[in-house]
Amino acid sequence: MYNILIAKYGEIGVKGKNRYIFENKLIRNIRNMLKPMGKFNVYKEYGRIYIDVDDSNYEEVIEEVRKVFGVVGVCPAIKRDQDYDLLKETSLYMLKERVAQGAKTFKVASKRGDKSFRLTSQEMSIDIGGYVLSKLNNPDIRVDVRNPEVTITCEYRKEHILVYTDAVAAYGGLPLGTNGKAITLLSGGIDSPVASWLVAKRGVDIEAVHFHSYPFTNERSQEKVRDLARILSKYCGPIKLHMVNILDIQKAIAEKCNEEETTILSRRFMMRIAEEIGKSRYCDALITGESIGQVASQTMQGIVCTNAAVSLPIFRPLIAMDKVDIIKLAEEIGTYDTSIIPETDCCALFSPKKPVTKPRLERIEKSESKLDVEGLIKAAVEASVMEVIEYGEHA
Ligand code: ATP
Ligand code: MG
Repeated sequence: MYNILIAKYGEIGVKGKNRYIFENKLIRNIRNMLKPMGKFNVYKEYGRIYIDVDDSNYEEVIEEVRKVFGVVGVCPAIKRDQDYDLLKETSLYMLKERVAQGAKTFKVASKRGDKSFRLTSQEMSIDIGGYVLSKLNNPDIRVDVRNPEVTITCEYRKEHILVYTDAVAAYGGLPLGTNGKAITLLSGGIDSPVASWLVAKRGVDIEAVHFHSYPFTNERSQEKVRDLARILSKYCGPIKLHMVNILDIQKAIAEKCNEEETTILSRRFMMRIAEEIGKSRYCDALITGESIGQVASQTMQGIVCTNAAVSLPIFRPLIAMDKVDIIKLAEEIGTYDTSIIPETDCCALFSPKKPVTKPRLERIEKSESKLDVEGLIKAAVEASVMEVIEYGEHA
């Protein structure tokens, strides 16, 4: 019966004159998301986005459209020729389906696009509500206009009728590609994929940089990061992933600096390298998965020291989140199972037994002055390798 989906979008509405740009981006992004499933008719009408579907695929299509940033909800709907009796019959069909799933209370909401129709929208709701109740003939089912479990929306338009119930919730946000580009520091952990996803959800295109210490860290740990980028690319489109070997930098730090400052010092290098690569790729911000107090390097003082290494803004969407909530999000977006696969991270290498938790910037800068910071960064950036990671493609 279902033959059309309504993709509802929220914040785009407030964009004034730019609204059509956002809508067109959203339509394009929905088409792209559905590309692996085939060709779909995605179009705009009456300030809403519709997708033609059929009964055999509509549930899978909803699952995909839900993942498009900017969509707040997806309603499966039935569209038929303009005929009031058909509208009543279709409403009954839809309510029956929901009753079978356990719903007990409902209301009918009507919209009259065709103003020449003899009933007002309020009269339509009363009439259709009465009709479906009498046809259901089930004393357990009743109308509740205040707090119904199901709202059946009936639209009587000039060309057709449309019936739908509640939307399947989506993630909201803004269409990808409407808010510039940022570069994310993607480790193999739980946090950074979630942080990347959250920023991308605001319409920001992302590139990624991963630091490894090959051959001390193995090929599998890099493959894990590619897998994470691949999951993200489902939402974000193809991701350019820059692989950077920082082994020489870690060795230089280990040789010349205090052991307890190792982590902070290598973080500052990571930030600078990400900034350098990011600028060359027209990114206007960095993204990390840092969260206050989560580990020794993420104390307030630690963050102050890493922050001071770069001039681009650093977006830290997880900064005030608890780990349990970050994990919930990681599960929801599908990165968690990959993130928890145990692999050696470059940070584990040379990691101090007792890291400094209250580093002072002057002291860190003094330690750094023993190193050829510029030269080390230049060498690492020059040796970095860019890969393009796409969804569905496995190495
Ligand atoms: P995650 O779970 O994302 O690994 P974490 O809690 O392990 O985070 P840290 O290891 O202190 O935290 O790293 C803080 C942030 O620095 C990460 O969220 C990530 O953005 C960045 N980062 C750390 N290690 C790497 C790496 N090897 N490559 C790229 N970015 C990294
Ligand atoms: Mg980590």
